[in-house]
Amino acid sequence: MNKKKRARTIIVVILLVAIAGVALMSKKGSDIIPGDSYNYVWLEDVTYNNDVGTGYDGARTGNSISKISNNEWRMTINPEPQGSYHSAWLDFSLRNMDNGQTTVSIYGTNSVNEFSSVVDTNLKYMIYTCNGEDYYPITDHTIDRGNNRFVIRQDFPCNEVQISTYFPYAYEKIQEHIHDKKGNSNVEVSTIGQSVQGRDIDMIEITNFDVPEINKKQIVIITRQHPGEVLPSFVVEGMIDFILSTGGTYLNDYHWYIVPASNPDGIHMGYTRSQSQGINMNAAWTGNSCVEVNQIRDKFIAIDNNEEIDFFIDFHGFAGGATGSGVYATGTGGYDFSAILRSNSWFSFDSSSSSTGAAQYARGYAYINLGVRPAVLLELGQRRTTWTVAQMQLTGQQLTESIDEFYD
Ligand SMILES: [Zn+2]
Repeated sequence: MNKKKRARTIIVVILLVAIAGVALMSKKGSDIIPGDSYNYVWLEDVTYNNDVGTGYDGARTGNSISKISNNEWRMTINPEPQGSYHSAWLDFSLRNMDNGQTTVSIYGTNSVNEFSSVVDTNLKYMIYTCNGEDYYPITDHTIDRGNNRFVIRQDFPCNEVQISTYFPYAYEKIQEHIHDKKGNSNVEVSTIGQSVQGRDIDMIEITNFDVPEINKKQIVIITRQHPGEVLPSFVVEGMIDFILSTGGTYLNDYHWYIVPASNPDGIHMGYTRSQSQGINMNAAWTGNSCVEVNQIRDKFIAIDNNEEIDFFIDFHGFAGGATGSGVYATGTGGYDFSAILRSNSWFSFDSSSSSTGAAQYARGYAYINLGVRPAVLLELGQRRTTWTVAQMQLTGQQLTESIDEFYD
């Protein structure tokens, strides 16, 4: 073996040992599990070094997650392409905690709207779950502007806990829910486009296809343009399940077109407001700057050309400060939305604006360019402490009933 060859062999051996070492460390496990929950990443998928996670962007926790002790953790928010102001989405799990109070310091929060506004005990800032089904608000939180951090303290009733800003609702879960309905004769699921990163943008149509379209109201609903605005996903899930299980007028008199994941990449990447290239989809409905919007808009134009759209809802989850705890409707266009949604006692309007907005916004585009009345942006307050998964699903039923009452 000549010198060169020996040197090369040594390098190869060192590399192999290093790779094996990393693999072993990954297998052995650590206590930090970053993930965006939409693409939940377990420890085995992440490279770790002394409990410091690196190399994964989806968590929005950057590469600075660190464990100080079994009950103290630190991390830094990783800004998304649209800027740090909206980088609210966080989702991670801690495990092997000791009993007692756990403290998590999240750094870089001064510039993040959702973490820097006034602490109000009626609002929730983060939630946790021990079983992935039941969520509870984290009640002890402090905005520590001096240290540019948001601190949560909680005595968790389990030693492996998942913590997130809002209720996680994965792209995969959205897809599974609508594709599960495909055997139903009142359902059609189609792919209307693809995201920049190649994920399907799917639409579910629900109606009694035997009833002539001329006899039906055409209702179009779009959600998750802003990926971190998760509540509408639970509401739409509730709507779909209610319509299909109740049938009758909801199938005979309506044709529902629902695009439940209009920004698949943003959801996958754990963004709050951005599409994968940093575009705010909701302000990109004129021009051709956004790949996802172009395809969804073309589909809506086609629907409108065939069967005039009667009702358009762009569904969001409002994440603002103290005023964001109820429901906010924009683009009511003279309709009284508290009346439209009158079967919903919980629909307490913080504010509602009749301004339909410019055509660059989805609701404005529907109102101005397609002539849809009403065309509205609906926001659910994501910080209401009273939300449960069941409550959000029930809201889907109530919203469906309200739309039916509107046409009665
Ligand atoms: Zn939004």
